[in-house]
Amino acid sequence: MVFEQGIKRLEHTAEKIGLEDWILEALKRPKRVVKVSFPVKMDDGTIRTFTGYRVLYNDARGPGKGGIRYHPNVNEDEVTALAFWMTIKNAVVDLPYGGAKGGITVNPKELSPTELERLSRAYIRAIADVIGDERDIPAPDVYTNPKVMAWMVDEYETIVRKHENGVITGKPLSIGGSKGRFMATSWGGFFVMEEALKTYGIDGKTVAIQGIGNVGGGLAKILHEKGYKVVAISDSKGGIYNPEGLDIPAVLEHKRKTGRVSGFPGAKDITNEELLELDVDVLVPAAIENVITRENADRIKAKLIIELANGPTTAEADEILKKKGVIVVPDVLANAGGVTVSYFEWVQNRMGFYWTEEEVLERLKDKMVSAFKDVHRKAEELKDDLRTGAYAVAVERVAEAMMARYGH
Ligand code: GLU
Repeated sequence: MVFEQGIKRLEHTAEKIGLEDWILEALKRPKRVVKVSFPVKMDDGTIRTFTGYRVLYNDARGPGKGGIRYHPNVNEDEVTALAFWMTIKNAVVDLPYGGAKGGITVNPKELSPTELERLSRAYIRAIADVIGDERDIPAPDVYTNPKVMAWMVDEYETIVRKHENGVITGKPLSIGGSKGRFMATSWGGFFVMEEALKTYGIDGKTVAIQGIGNVGGGLAKILHEKGYKVVAISDSKGGIYNPEGLDIPAVLEHKRKTGRVSGFPGAKDITNEELLELDVDVLVPAAIENVITRENADRIKAKLIIELANGPTTAEADEILKKKGVIVVPDVLANAGGVTVSYFEWVQNRMGFYWTEEEVLERLKDKMVSAFKDVHRKAEELKDDLRTGAYAVAVERVAEAMMARYGH
């Protein structure tokens, strides 16, 4: 149960900061869970019924915000956990949002583009009542992208009979997307990684990245250009390793051509498990949940972990890493670059005035660096790890808003 992991961390934080009981009780439950099912016509004329969710976890600080995931494992527990994480994440980077998340239980790789379009539009029709640019604002997540966001915005605007492109972020540029959104999570991860290396005095030249999707692949490109050595990278089928550093543009080209990273000339094929245990300075899990567990945490050799995936480390693994002195920059901070530029996109939509890529990246860097500093300061104050620091910063911000609304 992923949600349990989140609640365990919330309880730990509540104890550390002496959170009022009623706020803890409120934060243990989602404010609203919407579960929908809807029929979609397949290309061959048959009809399949799908199940989807949109969870608004907390909206004390502003409208809900968080992505939409298309994955066979999507279920209520997972979407709720992800919506809880968005509440924390949005507060860590101090965005004027609550937290939300959505998803459809589907393997999108089995659908044709036209089926995917009908699925996306049907989902938006099913949840249209609970979203809006001042209600709850979806965005891309696992296996959804700008194209899917475009269908969704179009469907929503058709329903409300006006333009309201701030209802969804992560859109294509031509219909109100923001420059820099596509690579934003990777850039955000890069900015916090540099800040963490500086803060802890770690010489971080070698990096292993689990995942070569938009986020992991994007970070690999940035690191390669900035002179770091990305020595290992993987996809769901396995990874590759070269202690001298990989030629990332060539790896991306190989992946594009063959559909996998393994078999890349001049590198050794490794498993995803082996990648996590390599002797590197920095380890970046950028793929799926629960990959660093109590089984393998003790064998991690990296000095610094940057969690670009959501929830890659279990609560038990955290304890082991803490004892070993491995610094973990938690997901709710490390991967907040995506939602931060989503926020910039929403601001630009509401102003109808668009920024250059330089402006976006400069503002993103400011946000990420100051969030890192807030979290680091809080962790020192509480004599705990960065995850607890991040949760404490976020929970205190959410609690302040809840006190303002419901307290005396
Ligand atoms: N899905 C991304 C996340 O987990 C982005 C959410 C957003 O941009 O609203 O942070």
